[in-house]
Amino acid sequence: MNKPHVLVVGAGFAGLSAAVRIVELGGTVTLVEATRHGGGRARSFDDRSFGRPIDNGQHLMMGCYHHTRAFLRSLGTESSVDFQRDLTVPMLRPGGTASVLRCPSLPAPWHLGLGLLGMRGVGFRHKVAALRAGLLLSNEVRRPDDTETCDAWLRRMGQTPAIRAQFWEPLILATLNEDPLVASAAMLLAVLERGFLGTRDDSALGVPKRPLSELYVPQALARLESEGCEIVLGDPMRSIRVSGGKVTGIETRSGRTFDADRVVVAVPPHVLLDCLPDPWRRHPEFADVARLSYAPIVNLWAKVDRSPLEGRPFVGLVGSPIHWIFDRTTIEGEASDEVVLSCTISAAYGLVGDSSDALRDLLAAELRRFFPKTPVRIHAFKAVKEKRATISHAAGTYGLRPPVESPITGLLLAGDWVRTGIPATIESACQAGHEAATLALRPPASAWHEGRRRTLGVVS
Ligand SMILES: Cc1cc2nc3c(=O)[nH]c(=O)nc-3n(C[C@H](O)[C@H](O)[C@H](O)COP(=O)(O)OP(=O)(O)OC[C@H]3O[C@@H](n4cnc5c(N)ncnc54)[C@H](O)[C@@H]3O)c2cc1C
Repeated sequence: MNKPHVLVVGAGFAGLSAAVRIVELGGTVTLVEATRHGGGRARSFDDRSFGRPIDNGQHLMMGCYHHTRAFLRSLGTESSVDFQRDLTVPMLRPGGTASVLRCPSLPAPWHLGLGLLGMRGVGFRHKVAALRAGLLLSNEVRRPDDTETCDAWLRRMGQTPAIRAQFWEPLILATLNEDPLVASAAMLLAVLERGFLGTRDDSALGVPKRPLSELYVPQALARLESEGCEIVLGDPMRSIRVSGGKVTGIETRSGRTFDADRVVVAVPPHVLLDCLPDPWRRHPEFADVARLSYAPIVNLWAKVDRSPLEGRPFVGLVGSPIHWIFDRTTIEGEASDEVVLSCTISAAYGLVGDSSDALRDLLAAELRRFFPKTPVRIHAFKAVKEKRATISHAAGTYGLRPPVESPITGLLLAGDWVRTGIPATIESACQAGHEAATLALRPPASAWHEGRRRTLGVVS
């Protein structure tokens, strides 16, 4: 019997997790990717001044990344992510005072409650405010309001400035990549539900111990090759071909055409819109996609003469434009005289336009401010700016994200930005990829899909 064939476009986490799941489920894939390397927004590249691969941005995972973990497990690389046994988050204030959120080995959510109570340097009244929000959480997650901002929700929950600065704001910036004044409370509640209301392991952080691409790209491509799949790198999709409301394939920039009646498009939203035939771009579902905007992340890489983190893999900075510093040399277990730091600035609207020199000066100043007792010298520096790091999770935008199943029969959308119920993260990408794979192998043009097309009003 012929295997069902699916065309997958895009080789980031979403496209590769979809493609690998399709072959696992008995299908076969043609994969088309714009770049020669793949990896999308979670990739590494060689940098001459560092003499090693560096990532486009430091990535963290959580224990509750079940789809991501299943994908990495299928590639044999899950052990390349160092998952904490219990959630531990060291936060530093200017001057270097540390305040560690260390959750004990208790069932969720008690582990978090006791962890918050045990945080040093945070007054009792502030901890009680956080616990109160924790007690109301199971009720709150039942009726998330996407039009409420995180700021409004934190006020409604009676959160004090101190607990906001130490706990809530770093969490919001790290998981939603958006300013708490703008970000959707519903998206925060989705993170809290998956991370803190499940098992204790769900909330633990996972730090990749290898450069990002090495975690999944070559392994996924090798898996597809071993199954006889066609892999086309370095040839971007230029247009999606649609006839009679059904997808019929794609055309690439080099002029090649690929025929297929099942296509998983796992590219960022603006690329999807550019490739759709004109009348479809005006379909209400795709017109909504055009209203999504992006939020930037700036990652600062520095090679320094010694680590200011004193053996810690990472620390969060309270009250700094630089949110997290990771010691990649310690994390990767390298023996080296020099130390490589990776520093994250989320929702970096105000800094993404700055010059490399200005960002280097900013890092040097913040290192002096937070580590006055451990002066470090910067030997090499690189700022990686991702202007379209994720979609913006501004309040009121969740409904603009489309479901995996598009109004065009046979065309499935994957990517961290589709309607997965969680923020645009690696987990959202892999969840969407897995869902697209399952739907792609379903018998084509199900009655349900035809019905959905009629309801939405189809253009041809
Ligand atoms: C700096 C930074 C830090 C981040 N930190 C975290 C974090 O800590 N934790 C977390 O969970 N997430 C984080 N994210 C988000 C995470 O990287 C994304 O959610 C995830 O990588 C998205 O995967 P994707 O496959 O949906 O999209 P992408 O990675 O964007 O993949 C899309 C692929 O499609 C390809 N493509 C584009 N156009 C075409 C075309 N015309 N034809 C064919 N192919 C095309 C691209 O080259 C790319 O390979 C971060 C993102 C950035 C940028």
